[in-house]
Amino acid sequence: MKKIAIDQFSELVKVLAERGPLYAPVKGKEGVNFQAIKNPADVTLDFYNTVLSPKSVFFPQSEDMIRYRITHGATEAQPVPQESRPAVILGVRPCDVRSFEIMDRHFLGAGVIDPYWKSKRDNTTVIGFAFDVSAAADPADFYNTFGYGAADPEGSDVFMVRTDKALLLKSMTDRGKKLLDSLGFLQVAGAQDEKVFEETVKKGKAVRTRSAEINPQVIAKKLVSVFDNGEFWQKVTMACIACGACTYGCPTCYCFDISDEMLFKEGSRKRFWDACTFTDFTLEASGHNPRPRIFQRYRQKVCHKYSYHVDKYGCISCVGCGRCTRVCPVNIDIFSIVDEANKL
Ligand code: SF4
Ligand code: SF4
Repeated sequence: MKKIAIDQFSELVKVLAERGPLYAPVKGKEGVNFQAIKNPADVTLDFYNTVLSPKSVFFPQSEDMIRYRITHGATEAQPVPQESRPAVILGVRPCDVRSFEIMDRHFLGAGVIDPYWKSKRDNTTVIGFAFDVSAAADPADFYNTFGYGAADPEGSDVFMVRTDKALLLKSMTDRGKKLLDSLGFLQVAGAQDEKVFEETVKKGKAVRTRSAEINPQVIAKKLVSVFDNGEFWQKVTMACIACGACTYGCPTCYCFDISDEMLFKEGSRKRFWDACTFTDFTLEASGHNPRPRIFQRYRQKVCHKYSYHVDKYGCISCVGCGRCTRVCPVNIDIFSIVDEANKL
């Protein structure tokens, strides 16, 4: 295990940013979010969790897939080369780290490998970051439901724990070890540091979030059985304005649309985030929309995450990060809805 004094943290950031793309939390007008780092001084470790999830590092909100040019009636098209330099994402909270595994099942394990997700995942070292285990969890969080702790290192290549004076950095994978071994200016951590690290992981398991007994197979079947209970779905989604904020913030929502943008005979085919709560998500070319009502679309969101995803990939597509509840302008809370449906 390695460590670095808090007041030398910007040195670590500087070196990582010089080597290749570095993504880390930055404070902006809308709160703290992951950004590509140009100025090491921009990085902050003083945050609870980012407003948007870190999925944008692997699955950007908008991404060019093909660029083309129309010349004399013919079209020249080239796939957009993928970033191949090793990258680092630093400061990912434990529940968000687990979201990457869920997204992998879809983008890598569904029979067709998504080259855009894969190239970024393959090239990126994940540095997880423990929550402050001496503080209470945000009331919207419910990651305990899925068995995650506030300082679980699982899924990270390197896991980072902050103490009063230092950052402890423990490698969890060969990739993480390679990264730490290459940073010669880091100090070797001592036995006392190892003890503090292990105690933090243990204390993290005692940090309580909201929690419910949710068995994936049972809730998957339950949601099928309550699918036609329109009264329930209308009641729990009555306030929803179909803004899509919950989906954009979510680390495990992966729906996207594809569209062409062209100007003066040059253009790109790009994919961009979509949301099943949007009015036109299922709008067909004929004008027919099989989900014209908001309650039908929000029901799709819940059923996809807690039922269809279980059937297809064997796990629930939610990590209990609480973002959808925090960002919702009308206080819709997926945890309460699933919990209520489970008791019907
Ligand atoms: S559904 Fe909500 S709580 Fe679950 S992962 Fe997405 S944003 Fe987080
Ligand atoms: S549940 Fe809330 S955040 Fe999600 S679409 Fe409805 S109003 Fe927007």
